[in-house]
Amino acid sequence: MPSPGTQSAPLHILTDPGHGGTDPGAVCGGVKESGVNLAVATRLSAMLEESGHRAAMTRITDRTVPLRERVRMERNGNYDLLVSVHCNAAENPSARGMEIWTSPGQTRADAAATAIFNALQKAFGRALPMRMDLSDGDPDKEARFYMLTHSRCPAVLIELGFLSNTQDREFLTDPENQTDIAAVIAEGIEGWGRGRGRVNYEG
Ligand SMILES: [Zn+2]
Repeated sequence: MPSPGTQSAPLHILTDPGHGGTDPGAVCGGVKESGVNLAVATRLSAMLEESGHRAAMTRITDRTVPLRERVRMERNGNYDLLVSVHCNAAENPSARGMEIWTSPGQTRADAAATAIFNALQKAFGRALPMRMDLSDGDPDKEARFYMLTHSRCPAVLIELGFLSNTQDREFLTDPENQTDIAAVIAEGIEGWGRGRGRVNYEG
């Protein structure tokens, strides 16, 4: 029996590897965003299940899944959190770093985003810059991304880094780093699941 307070109730998480199939997302230096997203999300999903949670994915192979179909999956399940996984790309090759997005305003996703952000910053803050917007008191950035505004459950979108930046691209395509990133995101999600209330930015 786990001692009380150390084990959270199992979470039901939907991971959403962005793009896939005919839509590769960003393509830089021969690397497709869709592949990196899938590699990290697959590991994340497996790790959550190994820790006793329930995890599903919007795609498990390199196939085309329209956004409205992904949202339909979310609405047909009873999820605690949607985690969309993407990589960035920019014209400026020196742009790099991780970002977490939620939909605008105070949302139920803010605490989850902050918990994941804290975990990522602690683990990778030295290797990868963390790009954040602290103007509203938490580090997540806000935008009306389709997956974020159309989901019923709290939803966060993680931009793992910039494929247009050589350092980020090398970091994100390393399978060991992909495993580490997934483990840290899982740790953040589990920390949020245990608290379920306020999570303060620890930066
Ligand atoms: Zn993307």
